[in-house]
Amino acid sequence: MINWNYEYRIYPNLEQQKKMLLWLNICKKVYNYALAERKAWINSRKSTVNSCSIRSEYIVPADRPYPDYYKQKKALTAAKKDFPELKEVQSQVLQEVIGQIDSSFKFFKQRGFGFPRFKKKMRSFCFPQFKDNPIQDGEIKLPKIGRVTINQHRPIPDGFVVKQVRVVNKASGWYVICTIQGEGDIPEPVADITKSSMGIDLGFDKVVATSRGEVIDRPRFLLNLQSKLTWLQRRLRNKQKGSNNWKKDSHAVAKLHEYIHRKRKDYQYKLAHYLCDQTEMLFVEDINFRSWGRGMLRKHSLDFAFGAFVDILEQVCKKRAIYFYKVNKDFTSQTCPNCGTITGKKKLSERVHCCPECGFTANRDVAAAMVVEQKGLNVTLGQRVVLPTEDGSIKRGTVSNDGTSLPRGSRKANQR
Ligand SMILES: [Zn+2]
Repeated sequence: MINWNYEYRIYPNLEQQKKMLLWLNICKKVYNYALAERKAWINSRKSTVNSCSIRSEYIVPADRPYPDYYKQKKALTAAKKDFPELKEVQSQVLQEVIGQIDSSFKFFKQRGFGFPRFKKKMRSFCFPQFKDNPIQDGEIKLPKIGRVTINQHRPIPDGFVVKQVRVVNKASGWYVICTIQGEGDIPEPVADITKSSMGIDLGFDKVVATSRGEVIDRPRFLLNLQSKLTWLQRRLRNKQKGSNNWKKDSHAVAKLHEYIHRKRKDYQYKLAHYLCDQTEMLFVEDINFRSWGRGMLRKHSLDFAFGAFVDILEQVCKKRAIYFYKVNKDFTSQTCPNCGTITGKKKLSERVHCCPECGFTANRDVAAAMVVEQKGLNVTLGQRVVLPTEDGSIKRGTVSNDGTSLPRGSRKANQR
């Protein structure tokens, strides 16, 4: 089975908008209630039997079982008697909210940090099931909401059916994300010696360096938009909270945030496809981008959203049947790709890798990308295949990328 998400803009009328906003509000209440219930249960089990916490104590009877997915779902059905408001929303949509709580707790347990939080605002709700195709004649038919005008800028491919629809409220308007499902499978790519390979290094002053010697700069448009955002946010601070001008400005900030997000995502997809055009196997460093986001270079790191980029890259590789592998990041920027000597930590200002052992010289980031590629090949194939020649070009016959159009801001490293 292949699952893809297609996003379309929808144009609900005023009545439908009112209804959907009400639904979002009810969904939020259900979410927060279900979260509070689980939180109280967990906290009530924290103190030992013979002592109480000094500040406060959650009291939940000892024999009450943990409110898991099934119990909460059952309780939701029962609650409809006492809270007729809940009947306003389609029942599957509300059940999906309980499912959302459940999966956020599962995710929390899995990675061990980030306890789920209460929601100030719910931005989307989801219809988990459709029997028939809901999109017809420029309209999407949503249960209990009715027919809504849709801008179907691209058709759903043949053989695919709409499985799920998520309605999203963004600053610029309403959207639906349709999960479409099709028969068949994309073959799972395998590492193979005959395939071409490439390693990439991600960094602050450039976005990507490849082991083929290409360095792609940070796109300027993001920086420009960032400064516009800073300016708008400063203006917003001087407005009286809650006033009409404040509302206007905060909407502008939200819209700009959305625009930046969309622009960046678009660029990242293009970049991912550009990289995939060049190779059959792709190796990336396995970096903890969370810790990047905390450090001194925080703003830069978030500006490009590297974590999201690696996810997109993995996704595009999967779609195009390109082998994708994350290698251990240790020493990648400190190793010589030619002889394997560990040359020690480089300063940020040191732009060139120059090996004291063998004299191999290359752009620092390109050298790191080469090490990433070798590491990847080492792990997946058990051999070291890439050998750079003395002038820094790469000897191994790989798919040439001459004539392909480069994304904006890219250049060859050796032209520096
Ligand atoms: Zn060397």
